[in-house]
Amino acid sequence: MALDTQNLASTQPKLSQLDTAGDIQEAVARGAAGVSLRSVTKKYGNFTAIENLTLDIPAGSYCCLLGPSGCGKTTTLRMVAGHEPVTNGDVYIGDRRVNALPPAKRNTAMMFQNYALFPHKTVWQNVEFGLRMRGINTAERQVRVSEILELVGLGHTGDRKPDQLSGGQQQRIALARALVTRPQVLMLDEPLSALDENLRVRMRSELRNIQKQFGLTFIQVTHHVEEAFSLSDQIVVMDHGHIDQVATPTELFEAPASRFVARFIGDNNIFEGKVVNVIPDDGTFDVIELDVEGLGSVFSRGQAVPVGQTAACSVRPDLLAIVTSSEEQSSFTKDNHLTARIVDVELTGYVTRVGLLSEATGQELLYKVRTSDWSRMGLSEGQVVMLRWSAHDCVFLPY
Ligand code: ATP
Repeated sequence: MALDTQNLASTQPKLSQLDTAGDIQEAVARGAAGVSLRSVTKKYGNFTAIENLTLDIPAGSYCCLLGPSGCGKTTTLRMVAGHEPVTNGDVYIGDRRVNALPPAKRNTAMMFQNYALFPHKTVWQNVEFGLRMRGINTAERQVRVSEILELVGLGHTGDRKPDQLSGGQQQRIALARALVTRPQVLMLDEPLSALDENLRVRMRSELRNIQKQFGLTFIQVTHHVEEAFSLSDQIVVMDHGHIDQVATPTELFEAPASRFVARFIGDNNIFEGKVVNVIPDDGTFDVIELDVEGLGSVFSRGQAVPVGQTAACSVRPDLLAIVTSSEEQSSFTKDNHLTARIVDVELTGYVTRVGLLSEATGQELLYKVRTSDWSRMGLSEGQVVMLRWSAHDCVFLPY
């Protein structure tokens, strides 16, 4: 039976909006399954690698598990795939509880970091392998392998061995081998880490296109923030065996939920202090006044925050401004100001990263600015400047 990829492409759901019942139903109808983990714990002896983790991944979405080394991303993926048994809790794929099912019965496929291609087999035989194992007949194998090789743009390489392919081509073959079995969920463990920077960026968009085209559920492990942002409908930020935040890339960028997420995802500037005042603002948010040692008041936006608690707030480096004498004061009165010395200037292309040191507290700060704007400012290392940022751009972070 031929796979009608043209039709698949034309009926694909809008994955960025996969939060409506209709979209999920459509993805399910096309073969995707959602994944749910319910209070899952994984212990290795006395060591708890994952603790009481609950997560829902919608059918047809691209989900990245993001976090530093050792936080439990791969363990989580392996428990969904069935390569690692859970110690407690339940794993569902679609509406099936799969705890007791072996990997081959879960309707999932896994793509590994090193691609795990058989070096002595041809490309064709590598892709065909999973179908043979499932007892698919010769005629159907022929159709499905040639179709999937065409889809990844490597129909001409069937007779080659893996070592006669480039890194990017090997990656596509590994993807074809995983997709040819028509899994409901594809799991990818750091699939791009073996590639150089340029190829990684190109393959990222290929992965995303193929995921869209098939409308499947993709779950990818990565510790690259940029990769997670560029691929995901949903990012799961993990730390020490638990989830810190589940959010869309935009939500994560604009409203990190903890100090850990704020630091991990974007070099954010974080201020720690005590809540001394909560000022009602626009009905949705309050302005929270933190007393920060050495700085005094720092204002941020938050909700339902009790006075007296120790807390923090975070502002992105691109939302700071350097105030010049000619600049008008903001109409918003609760602006934050801080005097700092420029200690480091790094041109990274379109963006310049400027490291500063607060004179009052010794805290290091980061300011990011378009390189063309930085050049116009005429500033250099050693100068003392006034930084300003709005309370509206500063996110309150509870402890
Ligand atoms: P990385 O990005 O480095 O791959 P990760 O986030 O995927 O890290 P895991 O591989 O899931 O992390 O590991 C989570 C924790 O569980 C780590 O502390 C790791 O040392 C531990 N761990 C993983 N596998 C085993 C095992 N088989 N036996 C004992 N401990 C393990």
